[in-house]
Amino acid sequence: MVFDVIVVGGGHAGCEAAASSARLGAETALVTHKFSTIGEMSCNPAIGGLGKGHLVREVDALDGLMGRVADQAGIQFRLLNRSRGPAVQGPRAQIDRKLYRIAMQDAIRRQPNLQVIEGGIVDLVIENGLVAGVVLGDGRSYKSKSVVLTTGTFLNGLIHIGEERRPAGRVGDAPSLGLSERLQSIDLQLGRLKTGTPARLDGRTIDWASVAMQHGDEQPVPFSFLTAEIVTKQIACGVTETSEATHAIIRENLHRSPMYSGQIGSVGPRYCPSIEDKVVRFADRQRHQIFLEPEGLDDFTVYPNGVSTSLPAEVQDRFLRTIAGLERVAVLRPGYAIEYDHVDPRELLPTLEVKKLPGLFLAGQINGTTGYEEAAGQGLMAGINAALSAGSAGADSESCRSFTLSRSDAYLGVMIDDLVTRGISEPYRMFTSRAEYRLRLRADNADARLTPLGVSIGCVGAARAAAHRCKKHDLSTAKARLEDKNLTPSKALLHGLEINKDGRRRSGMQLLALPGVNIQALCAIWPDLADIPPSIAEQIEVDAKYASYVDRQTVDIESLKRDEGRRIPLGFSFEEVIGLSNEVRIKLIKHQPSTIAQAGQIDGMTPAALMLLLAHLRKAGNSTTSKRTA
Ligand code: FAD
Repeated sequence: MVFDVIVVGGGHAGCEAAASSARLGAETALVTHKFSTIGEMSCNPAIGGLGKGHLVREVDALDGLMGRVADQAGIQFRLLNRSRGPAVQGPRAQIDRKLYRIAMQDAIRRQPNLQVIEGGIVDLVIENGLVAGVVLGDGRSYKSKSVVLTTGTFLNGLIHIGEERRPAGRVGDAPSLGLSERLQSIDLQLGRLKTGTPARLDGRTIDWASVAMQHGDEQPVPFSFLTAEIVTKQIACGVTETSEATHAIIRENLHRSPMYSGQIGSVGPRYCPSIEDKVVRFADRQRHQIFLEPEGLDDFTVYPNGVSTSLPAEVQDRFLRTIAGLERVAVLRPGYAIEYDHVDPRELLPTLEVKKLPGLFLAGQINGTTGYEEAAGQGLMAGINAALSAGSAGADSESCRSFTLSRSDAYLGVMIDDLVTRGISEPYRMFTSRAEYRLRLRADNADARLTPLGVSIGCVGAARAAAHRCKKHDLSTAKARLEDKNLTPSKALLHGLEINKDGRRRSGMQLLALPGVNIQALCAIWPDLADIPPSIAEQIEVDAKYASYVDRQTVDIESLKRDEGRRIPLGFSFEEVIGLSNEVRIKLIKHQPSTIAQAGQIDGMTPAALMLLLAHLRKAGNSTTSKRTA
């Protein structure tokens, strides 16, 4: 049998790739080492966070699995940045590792058009310059029209614990050998990165009474737009910190840490440093915070978040026991670092297809990213595109041969654009600061932005499509009711709402946009509004507050799109553009872009800076708009 799509690897990228491809109707095979490790969390037992939570919501909006699975397995939900605006709030949940695996394996098992094959891929079948299938280590081979590689940290993986080194994909799993050579043989640029994980502790040996406890939100906010309520039991985490004694032991043994002894030369995630790194880089800090996160409801393993390390096991034992609450701790498994090969993501098209080998798609850690959510997001997009490229899918497949999202559509668009245009110099992770249009790209409106697009390409199932239609209807009905109500400033004052005394009547939606006005205040004025369901009321309140900013950003986006071909004359003086930051000005001078589009490609360029540049060019009136090519 010839599959439409073969996905290699059942990690976070692979599960989404396989499921999205199958949702589009493509006959899909997921080839992975072991069914039992599908949905395994190699490192921290948590999903979401700032920027990452946005990705989970977007994956969910396109009917991906991660949000629903995390809602079933989450044992402590927290909405990060709750006190700040919704644009930068990040849903996060600590996860029961076993429940997550079970729920993900169940989702994969129940997915129509998807077959799981256990085994390790060692090579690709290439025919007439196109990918045509995969070859397993035991000699089996399978044909397909597209292949998605999502092999995570497994490509030539090498684990380091102190001076000890051993080949592995992650602890307990063999590495993937052979594939890197095949990728090199098609002339792909490979690099080497590293990441690390802390020791796992026996929670029964922790003195919980001597550490602070952190509880989750009283009302857990689910990831998935389809989850009505979190029903899994919720628990608290411990919070403790390193001490002077901890830092002293680490400093004394730095020469035994593979990163400092020169044994590891590759680059690790700057934003997720090892404890050795923290002690060296922040030498003046006397303590570093550690969260003691139980790995499950019926599991006594504890993940000490904040002390990732590759020091020798015996040194790990010693430094851990200098931490309050861990004086008598038993280590179940030492921490370690892992080095692995990745492909330079600039080898990819925005569809995540390899430019040099049509039909081959890459997603996840193999593209130089780090994190489950980044992997899931790429997996979803690669799976959709692999299915579309195989010509097997899509409600409107004739007109839709690829599916990409722009930086103004989604964090998924930001991530993939960053990867394929800028490449990476360290493991890439998502932050809200990477998104220029973050007022528009909120976690709360991911469904409004993406579900209709997903429906149009056929990757959203009937249940979600119906739920979305229903929500959209309820939102527009509620908004229309608010638009129908209005007050003059003097009437508003009678209700305690102070607004500009300009005599203008303001609608309920306009009043809701004002700082300090909430839906409860409007219900006090117009009691009939009280029957709007709380979730709908909450959403229209956020929409109203952000409406004017989003409208302004939309105008900017359209203006930039219209003018991206506008020429920047040779010798143009970037010094004269008022309002540019020094950093942006220096980059413009260095790169000397000849069009607005080229300026937009420069790393670190913001839409605000482009708008300033555009305004200056228009004012100077010395530019011409070149014809845009498709
Ligand atoms: P993975 O989840 O690794 O899945 C790869 C899958 O591919 C596995 O199922 C494997 O069995 C399968 N596979 C591999 N090769 C083959 C083959 N040849 N044939 C068949 N199947 C194959 N992320 C963070 O955000 N922060 C961290 O601090 C962090 N620390 C980490 C520490 C360690 C030690 C490790 C291993 C990972 C860490 N991560 C961290 C990364 C996180 O685990 C990954 O980003 C995420 O799991 C990547 O998902 P993926 O789907 O790309 O790959």
